Amino acid sequence: MKKISVSDIRNLVKPNIRNLTAYNAKEIPCRVKLDANESPYGFDITDEILKAVKTNRYPDPEAKTLKKIIAKNLRLNTENILFGNGSDELIYYLITVFGGPVLYPVPTFSMYGLISRSLGEKRIAVPLDDEFDLNMEKILSVIKKNKPNLIFLSSPNNPTGNCFSSERILKIIAASKGLVIVDEAYQPFSSEKGFLPMLSDYKNLVILRTLSKVGFAGLRVGFLTADKEIISEVNKVRLPFNLNSISQAVAAESLKNTRTIKLYIGLIASERERLLNELWKIRGIKPYPSEANFILFRVKNSDKIYQKLLKKGILVRNMKGVIDSCLRVTIGTKNENDIFIRALKGVIQ
Ligand code: PMP
Repeated sequence: MKKISVSDIRNLVKPNIRNLTAYNAKEIPCRVKLDANESPYGFDITDEILKAVKTNRYPDPEAKTLKKIIAKNLRLNTENILFGNGSDELIYYLITVFGGPVLYPVPTFSMYGLISRSLGEKRIAVPLDDEFDLNMEKILSVIKKNKPNLIFLSSPNNPTGNCFSSERILKIIAASKGLVIVDEAYQPFSSEKGFLPMLSDYKNLVILRTLSKVGFAGLRVGFLTADKEIISEVNKVRLPFNLNSISQAVAAESLKNTRTIKLYIGLIASERERLLNELWKIRGIKPYPSEANFILFRVKNSDKIYQKLLKKGILVRNMKGVIDSCLRVTIGTKNENDIFIRALKGVIQ
């Protein structure tokens, strides 16, 4: 039997995939994990919830119970909601269905670019202005010239932490014939009200939300809200059982704890302000204000500081290659934030 060599396999791979590198989500052992914008607060799973899950049956393909709860909480119609295995999956579906050109500002969440690349779609990355806001002149000119089918705007933006000006976002929605996706993964931590109230005013507006940042990253539950025509197009490529039974059941039960969820969000937002103040006091560090559950900060030698923090067991995100000389720290519990600040003061000196 003739053996297939590694290079034969590589040649079988589609050219746009061949030169990609896999998303690096490797686990780095640490004592204080502040790298992935997760919530420091989890929720208990009761035995009753788990016992009710039928392991031999496929999950509800429409996740109806969970959909009803989310629709009620956010005052939406169920027909305007579509679930994904995390909002990552919905980004994948949107680009699969509508294709490119895909426009997004940079720096921003890397998945818009990575998924576009893996699907062989044209990408147009427009740098943010000096305030980390949308560069309108450039974006409007790209809209006119390249007619992007999809525009991704993460607001609050990952990794810069700020919300884009809503006036600018509205101008983009009005100017674009393609879909504008406002990714509100971090909206719960923001003082701005977000774009859900505008959903019925704009047919090309899509809003992405996720449960990942408010204590449920392990469940992988994201959803998009949009006009039902958009929902039905995206639904054509959705894998039938993309939300497993345990995630559906746990999310549906846990979302009843609205007061606890809100309490945790409030704690994270107030810790964020405290951390920001502490960072301001450290010489050699420039933190940026944030509306999210993380803070971006500039340091002189980001690689060195990143490594020194890691040596002390504290894991943050090194933004090298995305926004140089910057680190991003997720807001943890008060105790975790204290450990981080103490360690940072030590390594900066
Ligand atoms: N959008 C943004 C802006 C994000 O930062 C993230 C997570 N890092 C996601 C979407 C994906 O979230 P998930 O797939 O966990 O729902």
